[in-house]
Amino acid sequence: MSEEKSLNFIEEIIEEHLKEGRYKSIITRFPPEPNGYLHIGHAKSITLNFTLARKYGGITNLRFDDTNPVTEETEYVDSIKDDIRWLGYEWANEFYASDYFEQLYEYAVDLIQKGLAYVDDSTSDEIAALKGTPTEPGKDSPFRNRSVEENMKMFSDMRAGKYKDGEKVLRAKIDMSSPNMLMRDPVIYRIKHAHHHRTKDHWVIYPMYDFAHGQSDSIERITHSICTLEFVPHRPLYDWLIEKLEIFPSKQYEFARLNMTYTVMSKRKLLQLVNDKVVDGWDDPRMPTIAAFRRRGYTPEAIRMFCEKIGVARRDNLIDYSLLEFCIREHLNETAPRAMVVLNPLKLIITNYEEQKSEWLKAENVPNNPEDTRDIPFSNTLWIEHDDFMESPDKKWHRLSPGGMVRLKHAYIIQCNEVVKDDNGNVIALHCTYIPESKSGNDTSGIQVKGVIHWVNAPTAVDAEVRLYDRLFTIEDTADIEGDFKEYINPDSLKVVQAKMEPWLAEVENGSRFQFLRNGYFCKDKTSSPALPVFNRTVTLKDTWQKEKKKG
Ligand code: ATP
Ligand code: MG
Repeated sequence: MSEEKSLNFIEEIIEEHLKEGRYKSIITRFPPEPNGYLHIGHAKSITLNFTLARKYGGITNLRFDDTNPVTEETEYVDSIKDDIRWLGYEWANEFYASDYFEQLYEYAVDLIQKGLAYVDDSTSDEIAALKGTPTEPGKDSPFRNRSVEENMKMFSDMRAGKYKDGEKVLRAKIDMSSPNMLMRDPVIYRIKHAHHHRTKDHWVIYPMYDFAHGQSDSIERITHSICTLEFVPHRPLYDWLIEKLEIFPSKQYEFARLNMTYTVMSKRKLLQLVNDKVVDGWDDPRMPTIAAFRRRGYTPEAIRMFCEKIGVARRDNLIDYSLLEFCIREHLNETAPRAMVVLNPLKLIITNYEEQKSEWLKAENVPNNPEDTRDIPFSNTLWIEHDDFMESPDKKWHRLSPGGMVRLKHAYIIQCNEVVKDDNGNVIALHCTYIPESKSGNDTSGIQVKGVIHWVNAPTAVDAEVRLYDRLFTIEDTADIEGDFKEYINPDSLKVVQAKMEPWLAEVENGSRFQFLRNGYFCKDKTSSPALPVFNRTVTLKDTWQKEKKKG
């Protein structure tokens, strides 16, 4: 047995092909349709295509499969390019299926001339009615046996704009009784008087996806055209067209799409979430899009690690979102500087610390590097988290309570002596005393305490808004949803809390990532202003979700 990681099934195929000399080198492509933003499923496909080419010394093209003028936009083209680069990949060539429209038209003419395509005047309903069912063969269209000349004339008239949308289509002449419905004379060209984001108004006929995709692969001499399992039934048509057109024999290989728990992964559904304002745009940090992940503070390294870990499956499966979060934590734990930020602040006054006095304490910026420190101010007025105080706690409580003692991280041990309340009985401040001999790093007090809490110096603290995110859906497998999937949106997927921060955090660049001690990893949001910095919680420190699931 070799020590090396075993090959995935596509690598096995490629190694076989290289060994037998079928190809000298390989070419893969990532072929998005520019009709939405990329999501984590696309990241899986991107990682696969680019790493295969890199591993076997080949190249990867970025090809926009832009054959549907109605849904496609330049905004999406730009975002797709940004996202691929952010993930860490650079394509060899940027191509567009629309660049091949003339060539694809020639291919269609070639099929007509070979007697393998015909113009059909039937409506789409009529075509559907004659299609048959998976168990019953279809019937020939009355237009199936038009002469080559008539087909040539009509197809050229289609191109010239002599017909209205839907009046005529071009169909491949294959087999109306094929057990594969897609082989029953599929439509390969349709009339659409629509503006295209690149070819503008030059064309009024557009190739169907199945006619454009494989032919584009072939034009680019793609050796391994990798797609997801739903394209398995399309493969015979893919092969048939290439064979009949006698063009470069690209081959299609299918792997399982990535599905993840508690989210949806189809551009159509994501677009619906955006349009219905369930989320605040494609890059709302709760979305599974690359743009959202970036804004939330996920790193490209972590996403690539995740794609590697899940491997390449041949059967559909559902990947636990927690695995992605595990990868994020792994990477951020090593790279994110530490900071103290107090959520839901509660004032704490140290009554035996001189009012005018302040001092500088040392705090580590990263773990395991005692050299890398910053100075943090300390005075008699601090902020701590409301949740770190409990008025009548049970025995297991190690944080602050009346009479109780805790250590303030990087500072002193304190004891809570008095709880200050407002007229409604809400706790609004704590009065404590500190033990001067208990300073961190130089503790001679001999006092042992179990709890350590973090804090921020009140006079220098800066206000911030912190956004805490949770799963977007309440249901693990969103494929199980019947009816409106929006009914399963987690109402607590976003909680906004007020915070007090160390002041330098107000100045860091948007997009910077930190570990806020005890609270998780956070990323500065693009909506930050000098007056109010905003931070998104990337991920909690531990997988609290698993725990809660068990509790629930
Ligand atoms: P969606 O269904 O989300 O709209 P799509 O398949 O229509 O996705 P495309 O832009 O056509 O989106 O996809 C580009 C490439 O990404 C295709 O090769 C497709 O197979 C792949 N891809 C899309 N979704 C996933 C997924 N969930 N897992 C793996 N690969 C995917
Ligand atoms: Mg698609």
